[in-house]
Amino acid sequence: MSSAKTILITGVSSGFGRALAQEALAAGHKVIGTVRNREAQQAFEALDAQRAFGRLLDVTDVERIDKAVAEISSDFGPVDVLVNNAGYGYEGILEESPLAEMRRQFDVNVFGAVAMIKAVLPGMRERRSGHIINITSMGGFITMPGIAYYCGSKFALEGISETLSKELAPFNIQVTAVAPGSFRTDWAGRSMVRSTRSIPDYDALFDPIRQARKENSGKQPGDPVKAARAMLALIESQSPPTHLLLGSDALELVRQKLAALGKEIDQWEKLTRSTDG
Ligand code: NAP
Repeated sequence: MSSAKTILITGVSSGFGRALAQEALAAGHKVIGTVRNREAQQAFEALDAQRAFGRLLDVTDVERIDKAVAEISSDFGPVDVLVNNAGYGYEGILEESPLAEMRRQFDVNVFGAVAMIKAVLPGMRERRSGHIINITSMGGFITMPGIAYYCGSKFALEGISETLSKELAPFNIQVTAVAPGSFRTDWAGRSMVRSTRSIPDYDALFDPIRQARKENSGKQPGDPVKAARAMLALIESQSPPTHLLLGSDALELVRQKLAALGKEIDQWEKLTRSTDG
């Protein structure tokens, strides 16, 4: 391992956040993990009495984030790596899904992550070093019916991450958007918010998708511990990428999507060019 780092991870109660925290602790790093209740805080701190510190934070509580991050820096020293992991999936056909659910999805997956970034940036910029890792999704590249709000939020975080990487390159601050495929976390289980069905016209399209996602929960191909090891390699890399896919499903599906997009762009090139001049 290179030198020990101070890593701030949002959402360490389960899934990727927990797995990454455990791998990072085992590698000798100091980890401050955010959780949403005292039990989760105690369980997290029990992982390592010297180097695991839990902090209560809901990432939608954006008014509190600056203060929480300032306290973390003063208690544990400068944050070298921020991992915006906290997030959840909202599943629902767009026409059936209340706008309030879209706001909530973006509050957690997008606004929460950006508020965390804004809180760590002054310190990272001053020190001319840092790494921001945003956990997006293959759903930040590919889409399927029934997860428009989720994909929208992850496309947003992909775009924000890529833009940010260009703004921060002069300051030696790296930004990586990590886009996992399907992994065995609580994402499609306890954490998923599922819409109430109301429009039978969508039954044929959506019922099998909802059913399959429920049945597949816990049986996804991806191992979160292996994802955590990959993220640790990213953290320890001297020149991390701006985008990293995790899992062969993500690789396959994103490649197909990019090829189809390229083909469509080519097919419509003439009309696209017709607007110049
Ligand atoms: P998970 O096991 O459900 O973990 C989600 C974590 O986020 C939990 O610690 C949860 O805390 C936390 N969280 C949710 N809402 C929060 C909020 N408002 N404020 C603070 N923390 C909050 O699922 P996961 O798969 O590890 O999810 C982690 C990230 O990976 C998410 O951004 C997800 O979209 C992304 N992702 C997952 C997959 C997959 O297949 N698993 C694929 C692509 C991307 P609580 O315990 O308090 O709920």
